[in-house]
Amino acid sequence: MSATILIVEDEPAIQELVAVNLKHAGFPVVRAGSAEEAESAIRDALPDLIVLDWMLPGQSGLALARKLRAGERTRELPIIMLTARVHEEDKVQGLEAGADDYLTKPFSPKELVARVRAVLRRRAPHLAGETVAIGDLMLNPATHEALVAGQQIELGPTEFRLLFFFMTHTERVYTRARLLDEVWGDHVFIEERTVDVHVRRLRAALEPSGRHELLETVRGTGYRFRGA
Ligand code: CA
Repeated sequence: MSATILIVEDEPAIQELVAVNLKHAGFPVVRAGSAEEAESAIRDALPDLIVLDWMLPGQSGLALARKLRAGERTRELPIIMLTARVHEEDKVQGLEAGADDYLTKPFSPKELVARVRAVLRRRAPHLAGETVAIGDLMLNPATHEALVAGQQIELGPTEFRLLFFFMTHTERVYTRARLLDEVWGDHVFIEERTVDVHVRRLRAALEPSGRHELLETVRGTGYRFRGA
């Protein structure tokens, strides 16, 4: 459920510091020592956020940020830039290149984790690791608990992710293909029917509480979750 974070940093000590602290905060991490390594990692699997050092051997972090913003698949990828520079001008350049936030070295690990959470909250609320609630329906991604009016309901891992997605993306209709992308993940090839199977299971789990009515089938299109 947590966001996978790609760390792009050529200085081993800083890479380690960032990786250890993000892992400790519950985020799976992937590491790269250069922009080229980062591009290869992104081709393998799209991360949910990238912590990107400005000064890298070869292609700079700034150039990579621009490239990611221009790419169709990576356009929405949240970017936090790291830099040793302190000049205001660099910050402007970084933000213009499409960074969501900016951290100047040396930074405290605590601040880095706080910034990562803040960017995710803004850009990908379902991955920030925080509890979401609609009325008395509550999901806690950290403990994997689902509650209705304080009573726990049993959900399989896929139904949990599906419900989490719906609760953080209410009132819009999602096609089965889009749900597969969002809930099952990038680079996954599964039949669209699979979505229906898990929607059915999710409804069955919600039915005793009556909350299954929030999850509507939109004929010929897909599914929509009511926000209240
Ligand atoms: Ca560096």
